[in-house]
Amino acid sequence: MNFYVMTLFPEMIQQGMQDSILGRASRNGVLCLDAVNIRDYTEDKHKKVDDYPYGGGAGMLMQAQPVYDCYKAIRDGIASKKGDGYGKNTRVVYLTPKGKTFHQKMAEELAKEEDIIFLCGHYEGIDERVLEEIVTDYVSIGDYILTGGELPALVMIDAIARLVPGVLNNEASANVESFYNDLLEYPQYSRPEQWHGKGVPPVLLSGNHKKIEEWRLQQSEKKTQELRPDLYDKYSRRKNLAEKLAKKNKALYADMSESLRRGLGELVYEGEDGAVVLDENAGTCFLAAFLEQAADKIVETIPIDADICQFVLHQEWLMPSMERSYRIVEKNVCRRAIYTQKIPLAVPKNVDIRRLDKSYLEEVSSHYSMGSKEYIEERLENGSIYGAFLDNKLAGFAGEHIEGSLGMLEVYKEYRRRGIGESLEAYMINHQLSKGYLPYGDVIERNEPSYKLQQKLGLKITKETFCWVVIEK
Ligand code: SAM
Repeated sequence: MNFYVMTLFPEMIQQGMQDSILGRASRNGVLCLDAVNIRDYTEDKHKKVDDYPYGGGAGMLMQAQPVYDCYKAIRDGIASKKGDGYGKNTRVVYLTPKGKTFHQKMAEELAKEEDIIFLCGHYEGIDERVLEEIVTDYVSIGDYILTGGELPALVMIDAIARLVPGVLNNEASANVESFYNDLLEYPQYSRPEQWHGKGVPPVLLSGNHKKIEEWRLQQSEKKTQELRPDLYDKYSRRKNLAEKLAKKNKALYADMSESLRRGLGELVYEGEDGAVVLDENAGTCFLAAFLEQAADKIVETIPIDADICQFVLHQEWLMPSMERSYRIVEKNVCRRAIYTQKIPLAVPKNVDIRRLDKSYLEEVSSHYSMGSKEYIEERLENGSIYGAFLDNKLAGFAGEHIEGSLGMLEVYKEYRRRGIGESLEAYMINHQLSKGYLPYGDVIERNEPSYKLQQKLGLKITKETFCWVVIEK
C-alpha cells in the first residue's frame, strides 16, 4: 500500500514511520511512504506558501497554488506508474478538525485502497478553493486543535497500515482487538505468573481454549460496559437483535444475525414489525418485515445516503414497496443452506486445499461468472477464496462472500464427479466454524445439484425463499 503525505514538514512524517512495525513493513516493501514537501511546489521566489486570509482574522493561510501543484505531481506520478485512470481516482484525505471523526471502521475501509494521499494543513488551514478541487475525505482525529496535520496523518497511517496484510506478524490479532465488533479487548497477562502478589486468572493457565474464549468474551463485555457504555449499548443492541432473529427463524435470518454477530452489519431498525441491517462495506442491506402492512415502513428506514447496491428481502411482500422506491435491475430467488452442527466435517484428503492469492485473479474470474473481476480481486486480497489442488494444478475453488455467506463454489469441468466440491465446501464450513461463525450459504432456487451437495454435507435447506435484488446505482 502506498501513502503519500503532502506536508510542509516531511521529516516529521519520515521520522514517525522509521521504527518498529511500520518501519519494518516499509523496509520489506509492504508499505511505501512518500512525504512530499508542498514548499517544493511554490511559484513564489522566496518559497513562501502562506498568506493573510481575505476579510482579516488571526494567522496565515496555506495558499492554493503550491498545494494544488504538489497534488498534481503526486497524482501524475501514480498515473504514470499504474495507468491513467489511477491518479484521478486516488482518495485525498484532508486532516482537519472540521472532518468526520476517525474510527476503526474508517481505517478498515481505507486499508482496502492501494494509494492514499494525505494533505496536512498548518497555520490557520488551507485556501478553501483547492480543498474543493482535490479533497475526497475530510477527517479529524478528535475534537481538539493541533498545530498541524502531520500527527493526525501519522495516527491514521498507523491505524490503516496495521490492517494491511503482511504488516502485522500475527494476522489474527487485528480481529480480536478493541473496537472489533464494538467490544474493547479483554485483559491480558504475561510472565511472571505472580507479580506484586497478584496471580494470573486460572482459566488462562488451564489450556482449555473454549473456556479461555468464553472468559475473554465475558471480560470484553464487562470492560466495555464499565469503560465505554456507549459502545456497550451498540454491542448489546446488535447482540439482542441477532438472538431475536435466530429465535424467529435461525436459517432464514442467518444472514442478518451473522452479519450483526460478526461485526459486519449495523443495526438500522429494530421493532416488533421488522428489522433492517446494513453492511455498507458489502453494499448490502438486509430487510425483514414480519408483518405485511409494515413493508412500506421498513423500506422507508433505509438510510438514503448509504452506499447500497443490493438488498436481501426476507419476505415477498417487501417487493412492491421496494419497486416503488428503487429501480430493480436483477432479482434472484434463493433458499438458505445452513450448517447448525458444532462438529467440524471430515474433509476428504483427495485434494490439497490452500488459500489463493491475487496471482489467481485471471483464472478465478474466468471460471466464475456471478461476480465482477473487481469483486474477485477484493475477495482474493481479503484471503477469502480457497483453491483445491490436484497434482499442484487448480481444480476448483470456493470462498466466503463479502457479506459473510459461503459460495463461489466452482469445480472445473475435467475434475467434476470426484468429490472435490464436497471437500471444498466441507473445508470452508470448518474454516467458518473455527472462527465461531454459523456457516450458511444462499442457493439460487432450482439449483438442484447445489441442494444435493448441501444436504449430503448435512446442511439444512429452508422451505422459505428470500430474494436478492440488485438496484440501479
Ligand atoms: N483554523 C482551523 C480550524 O479551526 O478548523 C484549525 C487549523 S489547525 C491550527 C492547523 C492544521 O492542523 C489544520 O489545517 C489541520 O490540518 C491540522 N489539525 C488540527 N487539529 C486537527 C484535528 N483534530 N484533526 C485533524 N487535523 C487537525
